[in-house]
Amino acid sequence: MPDLKLYDPFTNMQFTDENCFLCGTTITKEHRTPVFGEWMQDKYNLRNKELLMLDKSVTTFDQLTIPCCDQCHLNHVLPLESEIEDAAKTEYDGICTLDQKRIFQWIGKMYYGMLVTELIKEKDPLIMPENPVSENPQMLGKFKTFYQVLQSLRVPMKFSDFLPCSVFILQVAPTEDDLPFEYQDELTTMCFSIKLGPVVIVCKLLDNGIIRNVLNRLYKLTEDRELHPIQVAEFKARVFYAAYIFNVVPDYFIRPGKPEDEQLILDSLIDDITNEVFNPFEPLAYAHMLEEMLKPWSIREKDILENPQKPISFLTDDNGEFKTIKQFAK
Ligand SMILES: [Zn+2]
Repeated sequence: MPDLKLYDPFTNMQFTDENCFLCGTTITKEHRTPVFGEWMQDKYNLRNKELLMLDKSVTTFDQLTIPCCDQCHLNHVLPLESEIEDAAKTEYDGICTLDQKRIFQWIGKMYYGMLVTELIKEKDPLIMPENPVSENPQMLGKFKTFYQVLQSLRVPMKFSDFLPCSVFILQVAPTEDDLPFEYQDELTTMCFSIKLGPVVIVCKLLDNGIIRNVLNRLYKLTEDRELHPIQVAEFKARVFYAAYIFNVVPDYFIRPGKPEDEQLILDSLIDDITNEVFNPFEPLAYAHMLEEMLKPWSIREKDILENPQKPISFLTDDNGEFKTIKQFAK
């Protein structure tokens, strides 16, 4: 019978190098798992590549590991990594056939890996961070909620009628694509994107798929098309900005079960009565986000807001139809 008991490191702030990140078991410092799967580090030559952490310190991909017991490493983390590795072999088609719950767990593990590294560091009395995450009750509440659904990686769990995130899978045309791998995350908005060769996965965690619905029309336009990198950058800006104005946190409830149950069933509610789901769209704030994403092409805010009410788009034309871009002069 599977163990259906959830672990909660947040109530007692149990973030140490001696507790497994996924089940809490006491371990020694040697028991660790990489935040970025070994296969990915090999395939995209990441081992010695530098990575900027939240506290602005620099590490490398292969140094970034989190405490993990052998059980969780062997039974939960490795099978997930090998499933994604297999799918990535056939690029876009392979990634598209993955169960989205597995994509959620995979991205969730990397996101949480970055977070937990920060939380462990903040426990060190020699490190005095300027804005400690661990002293922000609102953020901690959000992380605790996220951690509940991330436990689906270890504890058999069925999400009744939702996915706890929005996932977008894009395909990049090879002509002007010179990035084999790229990764970006935003801790506060819980937005994440990762590029594996010609495939880009963009994900907003903990929105129960709301942003996926809001961007549905645009996303459908990109399906089965190869996008120019500048179009991918714009798509990312749209998702990251939507995550930035996203204003609610779902609640998750474990359905009361019987002792012989083989899995937990989770229901979810979003309170959209007391809170608006999104803060208002502000063209200027969006333009800043887009400018950031468009850095490689040096497109500035004044170009983006030539029409102040309608920021520039590389994805759609004036009629809202898909724009084909084969080449783009930098
Ligand atoms: Zn464990």
